[in-house]
Amino acid sequence: CFSTPLDSFKFADLEIIKAKPSEMSTKPDSNHLIFGRHFSDHMLEVEWTAAGGWRVPRICPVHNLSLHPGAKVLHYAQELFEGMKAFRGEDNKIRLFRPDLNMKRMRTSAERCSFPDFDGKELIKCIRKLISLDQEWVPYSSSSSLYIRPTFIGIEPSLGVAAANRALLFVITGPVGPYFATGVKPVSLLADPKFVRAWPGGVGDKKMGSNYGPTIYIQKHAEKMNLQQVLWIFGEDHQLTEVGTMNIFVLLINEKGEKELVTPPLNGLILPGVTRQSLLDLAKTWNELKVSERVITMKEVLDALKENRLLEIFGSGTACIVCPVNRIHYMGHDYHIPTMEHVQPLNLRFLKTLTDIQYGRIPHKWAEEI
Ligand code: PMP
Repeated sequence: CFSTPLDSFKFADLEIIKAKPSEMSTKPDSNHLIFGRHFSDHMLEVEWTAAGGWRVPRICPVHNLSLHPGAKVLHYAQELFEGMKAFRGEDNKIRLFRPDLNMKRMRTSAERCSFPDFDGKELIKCIRKLISLDQEWVPYSSSSSLYIRPTFIGIEPSLGVAAANRALLFVITGPVGPYFATGVKPVSLLADPKFVRAWPGGVGDKKMGSNYGPTIYIQKHAEKMNLQQVLWIFGEDHQLTEVGTMNIFVLLINEKGEKELVTPPLNGLILPGVTRQSLLDLAKTWNELKVSERVITMKEVLDALKENRLLEIFGSGTACIVCPVNRIHYMGHDYHIPTMEHVQPLNLRFLKTLTDIQYGRIPHKWAEEI
């Protein structure tokens, strides 16, 4: 399924139109970056039509898109996106983190949106060029980074639920600060079986915009209850699936007395997170714990908590790397989770190792210089 497609745009054809000084924005102070508010000067765009295939990719100044009001994306949410980052190391080199995994996920989402396939390696080469043109936008900071947002939309101007015969792939970027501006702080969660994020046969394992819009209402509901994020549970047995827009990990002593790190399996309900995969890969190489991709239910978590066998619960994602959990509100009760109350929490060890790799302090094949 992931062989190189016969028809793809090519980096070799890339056209570049540089922004004029008057089209360039002032760079924000890298100590006060609000996520998603700042955009670098250039973007990448490539159009596809059913009749003509892929056009040449183009880097150009960031500009508004002009879409017909009948464009399919505006009616049927034919849209997908990715989220990845570039990091400036102390050696001043800029690195991407496992971009091949983002490309693999993007192509899977594209297939489910009935969009054309493309060669992920060619898109990464174009993204590298985009970042090197806007390299001054990559923060000079070991806690900030450049967020990269590849996006793909159906732009055919015609109503009717059908594959779009015109589509636009574009990439925008912008500097972002640390997820936890004042040090890692554990979060509280609402786990309510009334709300479901993903279901078997659905698209919870794809990064499509249509998965996210409907969650905002539930996030606001959690905030009204003084809880910070939503723990998405599924099924009659209340399986833990994800937290907010992150994957979830549970560290516990299992009933056999083994220390086990558990994350739900990629069974169609779970987005295949790049961070999730990296934590699994790291934990396996450390070889100090049992590492499991398996279903875990609220009952198993609460039994372990009651018997003092629950050690840590944390989310994982590009934004924060890890996000510890200290409270879960479930079926009318508040449960305190002792994630940060151990001498050397595993989640902080993951955080340190991955940031060391991303900022080039530990040389590693996952961190690719641009
Ligand atoms: N789950 C969901 C629903 C997400 O949107 C994301 C990414 N924001 C993740 C998990 C984490 O994925 P990654 O580690 O690739 O950022």
